[in-house]
Amino acid sequence: MTSADSARSARFLIVGPQGSGKGTQGVLVAAAFDVPQIATGDIFRANVKGGTELGKQVQSIIEAGDLVPDELTSALVADRLAQADAAEGFLLDGYPRNRGQVADLDAFLEPRGEALDAVIELDVPRDESIARLRQRAVEQGRTDDTEEVIANRLAIYERETAPILDVYRARGIVVRIDGVGSLDEVTTRIFESLAARGLAPVHPGAVA
Ligand code: AMP
Repeated sequence: MTSADSARSARFLIVGPQGSGKGTQGVLVAAAFDVPQIATGDIFRANVKGGTELGKQVQSIIEAGDLVPDELTSALVADRLAQADAAEGFLLDGYPRNRGQVADLDAFLEPRGEALDAVIELDVPRDESIARLRQRAVEQGRTDDTEEVIANRLAIYERETAPILDVYRARGIVVRIDGVGSLDEVTTRIFESLAARGLAPVHPGAVA
């Protein structure tokens, strides 16, 4: 790989508890770096809404706030990452979500000579996440934003997803961002931290 190639590569993962704002921030990062945002939760919800075979398989799992089996999720992501628009980069949101999925993603990327450039960790305290999810429940009426399901999703985050950060920290690619503050403040922190690692957006004008 030449230095020109590595300068262009923009392979990101954004991780944070539900309600951390990762969806919104992920869209902004993906646009600025001109890479597709790939959010497994969005893909699953679109399939449920469209009544597809996949949607029928995952509906009750999503409504309970549980994790869709790794095999199904990883196959879906591998298909998506193999598409041409993800060849130069992508931003993953909501995948990988446990250590098994980290291994699956490695198994996909390694043979292609690819690797994540940065894992953006949005750090938001539990109380703040819960407050934001309650707000979203009122605004969007998502079926998995009920009190009980919120508690289950946060518990799964803490038990299964937070530990993947240790794996990526050991690789030296975690960029930890204080996720408390206004949307613009957090966006600015993300782009400053990425720039400090030599990861500059191709569309700086898109940055808030
Ligand atoms: P999200 O919008 O990321 O909170 O995802 C909504 C729901 O989709 C989750 O609560 C899970 O049921 C399912 N889901 C999304 N991403 C994954 C994943 N990587 N592994 C398993 N289940 C997932």
